[in-house]
This record gives sequence, structure tokens and C-alpha cells, in this order.
Amino acid sequence: MLLAGDGHQVIVLERDPEGPPDDPDAAWERWQRPGLNQFRLPHAFLGGFRDIVDTELPEVAQALEAAGALRLNLIRDVVPEQTSGGWRDGDERYEWLTARRPVMEAVTAAAAESAPGVEVRRGTAVAGLITGPAALPGVPHVTGVRTRSGEAIPADLVVDMTGRRSGLPDWLDEIGACPVSEELEDCGFVYYGRQFRSADGSLPPSLGPPQMHWGTVSSLTLSADNGTWAVALVTGSKDKAMRPLRELDRWEAVVRGLPLIAHWLDGTPIDDGLRVLARLEDRYRGFVVDGTPVATGVVPVADSWSCSNPANGRGASIGLLHARMLRDQLRAVGLDDPAAFAAAFHQATAESVEPWYRTTLATDRHRLGEIDAGLSGETYDPPDPWYQLEKALDVAAGLDPDCMRALLDIRLVLRGPDEVFARPGLREKTLRLGAGWRDEPSLGPDREQLLALVSAS
Ligand SMILES: Cc1cc2nc3c(=O)[nH]c(=O)nc-3n(C[C@H](O)[C@H](O)[C@H](O)COP(=O)(O)OP(=O)(O)OC[C@H]3O[C@@H](n4cnc5c(N)ncnc54)[C@H](O)[C@@H]3O)c2cc1C
Repeated sequence: MLLAGDGHQVIVLERDPEGPPDDPDAAWERWQRPGLNQFRLPHAFLGGFRDIVDTELPEVAQALEAAGALRLNLIRDVVPEQTSGGWRDGDERYEWLTARRPVMEAVTAAAAESAPGVEVRRGTAVAGLITGPAALPGVPHVTGVRTRSGEAIPADLVVDMTGRRSGLPDWLDEIGACPVSEELEDCGFVYYGRQFRSADGSLPPSLGPPQMHWGTVSSLTLSADNGTWAVALVTGSKDKAMRPLRELDRWEAVVRGLPLIAHWLDGTPIDDGLRVLARLEDRYRGFVVDGTPVATGVVPVADSWSCSNPANGRGASIGLLHARMLRDQLRAVGLDDPAAFAAAFHQATAESVEPWYRTTLATDRHRLGEIDAGLSGETYDPPDPWYQLEKALDVAAGLDPDCMRALLDIRLVLRGPDEVFARPGLREKTLRLGAGWRDEPSLGPDREQLLALVSAS
């Protein structure tokens, strides 16, 4: 839609055959999307995503509202006034969108299908790339795709958005491109999630932020559309003692044992059981090797370029930032010189999108470090300045309105840490106010109590 809005003719090739149902419950109950294994897992659509939808795709924002998606703003809806310092100009940017993923996706897909300049072909799997005369000596130039049924579809630019399991590196290999450089590891987390609905459309009150850490376990509580919400627990994948969380009664026992979120179980489940997702990968792909793009005429956007632990809820925001950046590079550089476009796209990705991936990865590595230390009864306190600053910010945000906004800017993918901590005096204030983070009392069960909850029969 962003590209079509600029006059490009866009053909979307989607492997899954079924189109979007037109009502939210049908999207949740019946829509089959085997291409997305996270389809029915809890999602939040943070400020970064909401901001682009509002400014660039207002028709999608309206359709989401009509489908029952909500807008939440911690400053307006949750944080007490003495902590937030009251409403300030600009606080509207902290709003984010809530909807079950199938509902968000059905609304967005329907908007795309009716957007002028966009043609969506479902049940069409891409199987490889086709090439033409090189734009750079020795570098393959992509001029379209080949589908699984053997059709060749020409294009001035192929945008790969086939998600975290994208076959692009293999397709590039098949056309003789240099290997894509890849950083790949198991993200190290396991998800156990379930979604609920109230009889009267009400939502559970939030007694804390959507993501909370309880020693070796984290919780996610996410409001969604039409009186629905999600509850998830996230553990380290090495934490064998927590694996009984796969059993619904063990999962419920642990959630009930977390005092600020136990009441989120008080609804009617809308899932058959628990949805468990493990073996998720952190993956970064570099498409420039020794200063030269591995191919021209093709670019990866969103998860096919890089993806990480989804507990931070940033994937859709980062993906949409990336898509908007693609639109902006097409505006600024155009496709007349494919080599110049490839260089500009990859450089803009590295400058404006990659920092979000790196920050998210750093936060995740430290969270895993905390979990691993918790398993062996040790204390995790690395001297990494980013870790120290993040921990201090968690505490300082509860004490100071500027620190609260700094935390939200970073968490909601609105402003990167470098920009936030360039604010005069903020870093010093954060470190001073948050200096006592090690002494913060735990509000929930300790490791021993968690083990008792998960293993009780
Ligand atoms: C458990 C979990 C929870 C998450 N929670 C959040 C959250 O709360 N907030 C958030 O912002 N993000 C979250 N994410 C991340 C988010 O889901 C992704 O970042 C986002 O979906 C990426 O969008 P994408 O378009 O790159 O890929 P996808 O959404 O994965 O879409 C890829 C599409 O490509 C299609 N496809 C694949 N191969 C082919 C092919 N060969 N030919 C044609 N079509 C093909 C697939 O069918 C699919 O429709 C979560 C992820 C997981 C795993």
C-alpha cells in the first residue's frame, strides 16, 4: 500500500490460498494461515507501527477501529498522574494498537486488496528468481520471480517479505550470487500463550506494564479487540524445570501465582488449549559483502531481512519502518540505476532499521543472562553500560516523568536509545534515580516458589 500510494504497480504473491474473512470472529476462528506459525499467538502493535499506520495508511487505521481494535496509552490509561506528571503535548505518540493478529491481518489484507495499484494473488508460492543483464559486473540482476507452478512474473524490483523462514538466500545462491552473510542462533526463549474473552466486552485492568519479569519467567498480558486479550509466559529454553508449563493446569497455576496478572485468567478461553512456540531464531542477514550488494533488483524487507525474540513485540513495527524506508528510497533514488538503488537501500537499512534489531538483540541477550543466572542461583550484573542503563531506566521510569517517557520511546519503537539519551541530563538522571535497581523488591514468587507452582500436582 505504501508503494502503490506512490504510483508503483504492486503485485503481492502470497503462498496461503485463503483470503481474509470480513468479520473479526471469522478471522480468529476460521482463517487458515499455515504460512504463519505465530498467527494465533499474542501480538501487540506498538507505537512505531501505530504511528506509520496513522500517518501513511489512515484508511487502515479507520478499518481497524471499525473491527474493534483498541488504542492504549500507558500514560493516559495506566500510569498514575503523580508518576507521569500528567498529560503532556506529544504524549499521544505513546498510543499503540491492540488486536488479535488474525484480526489485524484480515483488516490490513482487505485494505490492501482494495487499494488502487495493488493486486494480491493468493495461493501463489514463489520458488525462485529470474535474472536479466547485470547492472554491476559479476553481480546477478533480478528481473522477477518464478512461482512454484512455473509461471515467470517480471518486476522492476522484487521485494522479499516472506518472513523469518524466507528462502531468499537459497534463491540467490541458485542464480550464482555471493553467499548472504548470516548471523543465526536460537533466540533462547519459549512461549506459552492463551487468549480469552469477557462476556460483556470488558478487559482486565492493567496493574503493571504488558511485559513483566518474575525472576526466570516473564509474563505478557495484552488487551486486544472486541473484549479479548492474551496471556503468555516466556521462559528460557534451557529451563527444563519449567517445561511442564506445556500442561494447561501447570500454566494456569503459575499465572495464578503472579499477583499482578492472576486476574487476567478470569475470562472464557477462545483457544482450544495452550499455544506453545519454541526454537525461534535470532537472525540477521547481510546482503552487502565487501561493499558490493550480492544482487541487484531484489531487496529483503522485515523478518526476511532480520528477526529476533518476539517478546518485545517489535517485529511489526520494525517491519513497517523498513517498508516505509523502502518507499522513501524509491522516491529518493529510483530504480533507473539498480546498483545505486541497492547501495542506497542497504545503507539506509543499516543506518535506520538495523539499530532497532541490535538494541533488541542486546536486551534479549541480557534477559537470557538473567534467566540463566537465576537457574544457577547466581546474580547477573555485567558491566555493560547498556545493561546498567536499561536496568536503571526501569526503576527511574517509575520515579520521574522524563524517564518514563524515555522508557516508552524506546520500548514502543518510537525513538532509538541514542536519540533518547542525547536529551540533556537524561542519562545522568536515569543512572542517579535508578541506581538502586538491584535492591528493588520482587513483587511475585521467587525461583523456589515458581518451581513449586509448576510442579504441584
Ligand atoms: C510468537 C511470536 C509473537 C510475536 N509477537 C509480536 C508482537 O507482539 N508484536 C509485533 O510487532 N511482532 C510480533 N511478532 C513478530 C511479527 O509476527 C513479525 O515480525 C511479522 O509478522 C513480520 O512480518 P513479515 O511480513 O516480515 O513476515 P510474515 O508476517 O511472517 O509474513 C510472511 C508471509 O509470506 C508468505 N510466504 C512465505 N513464503 C512464501 C513464498 N515462498 N511465496 C509466497 N509467499 C510466501 C507467508 O505465507 C506469510 O503470509 C511475533 C512473532 C512471533 C513468532
